[in-house]
Amino acid sequence: MPILRVALDVPVNTLFDYLGPDTVVTEQDVGTRVRVPFGKHLMTGVIMEVATYSSIASPKLKPIAHIFRDVPPLPETLLDLFRFCSAYYHHPLGEVVMNGLPGRLRSSKPFVQQYRPILEYRLTGTGRAADPSVIPPRNIVKRRLLARLKETGSITIEEAKQLSQRAPGVLKEFASLWWVEERAEIESSAIAAANTSSPVPVLTPAQKNAVDEIVPTIKQFNTWLLHGVTGSGKTEVYLRLITLMLHQRRQTLVLVPEINLTPQLEAVFRARFPAIRLISLHSGLNPSERAGGWLQAQRGDAQIILGTRLAVFTPLPDLGLIIVDEEQDMSFKQQDGLRYSARDVAIFRARQTGVPVILGSATPSLETYYNAINGRYLRLQLPSRAVRNATLPLVRCIDTRIAKTEEGLSPPLISALETSLALNQQSLVFINRRGYAPVLLCRSCAWTAACQRCASRLVVHLREKKLRCHHCGHQERFPTNCPECGDQDIAPFGHGTQRVEEALSRRFPHARIMRIDRDSTRRKDAWQKMLEEIQGQRVDILIGTQILAKGHDFPNLSLVSVLNSDASLFSSDFRASERLFAQLMQVAGRAGRGGIPGQVLIQTEFPNHPLYQALCRHDYDSLAQTLLVERKLARFPPFIYQVLLWAEAPSIDLALAFLANAEGISAKPKHIEIFDPVPAQMPRLKGMERAYLLVQSSSRSKLQKFLGEWRTQLDALPDRKVRWALDVDPLEF
Ligand code: ADP
Ligand code: ZN
Ligand code: ZN
Repeated sequence: MPILRVALDVPVNTLFDYLGPDTVVTEQDVGTRVRVPFGKHLMTGVIMEVATYSSIASPKLKPIAHIFRDVPPLPETLLDLFRFCSAYYHHPLGEVVMNGLPGRLRSSKPFVQQYRPILEYRLTGTGRAADPSVIPPRNIVKRRLLARLKETGSITIEEAKQLSQRAPGVLKEFASLWWVEERAEIESSAIAAANTSSPVPVLTPAQKNAVDEIVPTIKQFNTWLLHGVTGSGKTEVYLRLITLMLHQRRQTLVLVPEINLTPQLEAVFRARFPAIRLISLHSGLNPSERAGGWLQAQRGDAQIILGTRLAVFTPLPDLGLIIVDEEQDMSFKQQDGLRYSARDVAIFRARQTGVPVILGSATPSLETYYNAINGRYLRLQLPSRAVRNATLPLVRCIDTRIAKTEEGLSPPLISALETSLALNQQSLVFINRRGYAPVLLCRSCAWTAACQRCASRLVVHLREKKLRCHHCGHQERFPTNCPECGDQDIAPFGHGTQRVEEALSRRFPHARIMRIDRDSTRRKDAWQKMLEEIQGQRVDILIGTQILAKGHDFPNLSLVSVLNSDASLFSSDFRASERLFAQLMQVAGRAGRGGIPGQVLIQTEFPNHPLYQALCRHDYDSLAQTLLVERKLARFPPFIYQVLLWAEAPSIDLALAFLANAEGISAKPKHIEIFDPVPAQMPRLKGMERAYLLVQSSSRSKLQKFLGEWRTQLDALPDRKVRWALDVDPLEF
């Protein structure tokens, strides 16, 4: 009897051997889901290999309980992708496989495609081209239906019934002629709105150049960086390439960072390709919807797959192109379980399949930028806005050492808000809400306390009167005056936010103010409503955090103001500047999109800081170059490869002790640096204390080899009450 090697969702990096059933099991069954006995329970897993031999003595081998024949087996390429992730992220294969499946396929029950009644019919390209005169004149219902469809593009089943009792039957007939597409949902208003517009624009020279560069090698692997300023029309470049894919009958995978951005992009895609099967995959779907979409992709029925990071694990038999929009966005990285970067997995997947991957951004991550300037990635630039006469907004700093703020607002900012209100234009007040750990800063010369050992900024721990490196664990005492200029005015810097909202409503009692943050937008329909309010110009002042910066078009927005962003300039997190710049470029990009010239005002104590200077010139390159020089000197990524070992325990001492142990058992090979354990910035999380240990090397392959051996040793460590995890290429410490 064959031996089946099964991947199970258990934290051990091994496959589990089971006896196959009496019915014939072959290589063909690799990728099939099974139920197997595990301990006292049954578990669902995936057959990864079929073998003839097991190292487990045959009396101990258990037979599998059930084989699922509900959906086709997972394709070998997907299993290879899982194997790669398991190896690269040093994460148990079974957990990787099960993490990649939609929840519905992980359950104990077979998947039954729910019957979804048809609610709407949409005219296809064929239908649009159909000649009404082929319908005999006496067939009034047919004629009227076609005329109506040509007018509105779609019709719901209810509307059809009102037209005639016979209409539903006629629509079925149209569907068999491929004149209409049957749909189980009615398109949302956003989609309908987009459907009525969207003529295909003539490409700008820069867009045309980008398309012309990519097309000749569209059938081979390359990583392209599409570096275009906000509003430069990156989406149009995607649309042209997707059109090419549709002609070649190949699938396109489009990854976006935010679930909130999918409806907008979905609307744009549907408007351009009304008859194409597009599925969107994100965490807002119910389990059956997600599994259903996933299977459509696996069968090759879905031609465009739009989704958030988890969509990178969708089986795609005809994959022809991968697009990662806003590639620098942190949400592509999963921060628990399998800590993968969907962008990096997408690049691996593109190489594995031999297809191009396009990373789109106005402010690429420094890792990507570095790869683009050293030639590993191919860089395409869109340097100006696509819409004629739309220029980039004017960015200026307000020096708050001179223009003193009151309740967080400076006089020039207040008068700019007043002007916007008077002109009936919208303003956005952007608050940088990340709670940064305080660092020690000299206000006269901008010196900050840095670690001797690793060049990170030291974090102030007031209670113990100590400075501590959150990178390598080094500690030292507080200096009494600035070592650089002798000034005694050195103080912790980098507090949270002020209550700006209240201050604004007091200042502008008649303005309609709306606050937008992650909590208020968690529900999809709530966010849609807010967008409608904004677009319907029923809001004067928007107050918001990061969420507002991303990809939305607010045509009546003319003023963007930025408060308290200085803390990010002097953060202990070496990526803070990069992120601040990306964020500010993005919020700045919100201003002045619809013909009104935009203005961006930044309140700062450091108006001459290179970051703000670069921002005023819209000069990403100069800042990126500066940051790269700093990173190289300090030996930070992309010049070094990092891994964190996280430990979580009921007490910080347990976590630190585990990490000290982990540090002790390693062989400490050459070229690998292991630092001391550090309590995490936000140590307490759900009653657990967290700490980590940083490992780094300038050689990715040496680091990988070390991790392979170390992981085995870690698995053997006694770790009662401690949960640990490896985080390869970490983004957050
Ligand atoms: P990005 O994603 O690069 O920030 P978008 O793709 O959102 O930019 O495009 C910005 C605006 O420019 C959109 O309103 C889009 O319709 C418009 N646009 C894009 N390409 C063209 C073009 N070739 N001609 C005219 N308008 C264009
Ligand atoms: Zn000083
Ligand atoms: Zn250090």
